[in-house]
Amino acid sequence: MSVLKIVRYPEPVLLTVGKPVTEFDVKLKTLVKDMFETMYAAKGIGLAAPQVDVSSRLFVMDCSGGGDETQKIAAINPEIIMHEGEQIGDEGCLSFPGLYQQIQRNMRTIVRAQDVDGNLFELDAMELTARCILHETDHCDGIVFLDRMTPLKREMAKRKIKKLQKTGEWE
Ligand SMILES: [Zn+2]
Repeated sequence: MSVLKIVRYPEPVLLTVGKPVTEFDVKLKTLVKDMFETMYAAKGIGLAAPQVDVSSRLFVMDCSGGGDETQKIAAINPEIIMHEGEQIGDEGCLSFPGLYQQIQRNMRTIVRAQDVDGNLFELDAMELTARCILHETDHCDGIVFLDRMTPLKREMAKRKIKKLQKTGEWE
């Protein structure tokens, strides 16, 4: 297993719609293992393939941060099939180091995806888990959390990123 390099905004791969996964082979399983390792090393709770420079529709997540095996999820070709309610809360992203913003998301969502062997499953999630699923599925669609901010907050975030780029803290 290896820790992969996480790309930062505005790398084009982050703004590109990922290709559907069609091969459930060793290569995919290795990528998923590496993505889990990369996510835990970065102390994140979710990581999508475009964030490691792979333009494919998949993500890994673990809202327990490694403490609870049942929270460890790999979702291949995720599709949001239901969402309802709303929640507002702080959100971060491993491709936006040090940037946290309040983002409105659905309170509940159901995602349909495939596991690493290609078997379909559905996950009905609430609160933080739902927020994470929606954030990571967005990555598969080339959408970053900046796009989910209000215009005012987006401008503030962009200004902060520019500042960090100038001081070399963003690379
Ligand atoms: Zn993210």
